Amino acid sequence: MDEQTRKELTAWLEFYQELGIEGFYRRKPGAGETQPHFEAAQPAQPAVAPPPKSAAPPMPTRAVPAPEPPKPVAHATLPPAVIRPPSPAFNLFEAPPPPRSGPETLEQIREDLGDCRRCKLAPTRKTIVFGDGNPHAKLVFIGEGPGADEDEQGIPFVGRAGKLLNRMMQTVGLKREDVYICNVVKCRPPGNRTPEKDEVDSCSPFLYRQIEAIKPRLICCLGAPAVRTVLGIKEGITKIRGQFYNFGSTKALATVHPAYILRNPREEKILREDFEKIRDFLKGV
Ligand code: SF4
Repeated sequence: MDEQTRKELTAWLEFYQELGIEGFYRRKPGAGETQPHFEAAQPAQPAVAPPPKSAAPPMPTRAVPAPEPPKPVAHATLPPAVIRPPSPAFNLFEAPPPPRSGPETLEQIREDLGDCRRCKLAPTRKTIVFGDGNPHAKLVFIGEGPGADEDEQGIPFVGRAGKLLNRMMQTVGLKREDVYICNVVKCRPPGNRTPEKDEVDSCSPFLYRQIEAIKPRLICCLGAPAVRTVLGIKEGITKIRGQFYNFGSTKALATVHPAYILRNPREEKILREDFEKIRDFLKGV
């Protein structure tokens, strides 16, 4: 190898070294070629865009001793992609179900949900509380998440808050079997805490599919988490309650969660007022 070639080769080797490429292998001359070729092995670091073919390689800025000719090495390959095995507790990587053509039924959505482990509420729940009621209801109530009683029985709103909800419905002439009731998340948050964003993000697609399957005329969001999820409104519930909003072609009403009334019994009249609005709305549809 003459001195000029050696210098050029040195410059190229330093250039590749700066890109994180350490290994090279020598390819045998192809047909019509007389010289062997040295080719860069695959980098083990994130890919860096190669220099344009027309661009000259950057020249060294300092004098360097002439290196030994590169020794051929085995062609390195990138390590295989790391695929995490599903966690037995919950599995964020669970594939979403394939889209269906045509309208879905609640049974199909429940089937897709399966023994869901898509969020961190899965390990502590006893039962998935999917929803309950008339699949063709004009009115859908949406709460924030199951409590202890719901977790035991697998039915939404069966505890004290559920009994208050039933009583409110009765006062305005609604029957529980005529409505549909579900929650933003379908598994009980530990200690009845508010569902966290990642939990809502994992679970709410099933809620939207339930709404789409039922096609109610009115959605009643019970409490701030339901209002935030369904309507995207972050203001305090006591400020925005009693008002109707658009949710696609459906109307939505925001009101307080019955559990709030259990803690503040003097406020019961505001829930009754909102239920009277629901009754009046449903009379007109
Ligand atoms: S809360 Fe929803 S997303 Fe999370 S595990 Fe339960 S059903 Fe699945």
